[in-house]
Amino acid sequence: MAHLVVLSGPSGVGKSSVINEALAELPQTWLSVSVTTRAPRPGEVDGVNYFFISKDEYDDMAAKGDLLEWASFAGNHYGTPRKAVEEKLAANIPVLLEIEVQGAKQVRQAMAEAVLVFLEPPTWEDLERRLSGRGTETPEQVEMRLRTAREELDSAEFFDHVIVNSDVATAAAELVSYLQ
Ligand code: 5GP
Repeated sequence: MAHLVVLSGPSGVGKSSVINEALAELPQTWLSVSVTTRAPRPGEVDGVNYFFISKDEYDDMAAKGDLLEWASFAGNHYGTPRKAVEEKLAANIPVLLEIEVQGAKQVRQAMAEAVLVFLEPPTWEDLERRLSGRGTETPEQVEMRLRTAREELDSAEFFDHVIVNSDVATAAAELVSYLQ
């Protein structure tokens, strides 16, 4: 069976950029689309970046066991729809999940063979700069995400591989090597 790779890392570390570059090399790999109760950011498209759902819909999915893993993050709820992941793996298509650390730990429990990868910033200051600089969150939200980031960075040793995102192309090449 094809394998499942999880990429985690603190908010703002550059997971999406690294994933976009890695997937350009690996068009056969499928990137899971999560559900979230967070409001869309400008430019985000429902069904592409996330499925944007209500808290009631989210609770319903969780109650029915439709989520492979789930977590609360910075005041919102996120989860991976189980069915699509299982279908892709059964069809021998490699799957990539971009999720936070609590979710990665649940995936490890559900699927011992999953490969868990953690993306780290080169320095703490770099992460602060990136997260504040992208301008998609209020200062309070940035503060909350940075507080969570400190805890997430302490979880790096839980992962099978740690990639330092000093350079997107180099980090993407490393991710590609874990997806092949
Ligand atoms: P953002 O709001 O910046 O899109 O995502 C916040 C955090 O939630 C990021 O660390 C992202 O990787 C994570 N995330 C996105 N989707 C999921 C999911 O389905 N499950 C979990 N556990 N985390 C997710």
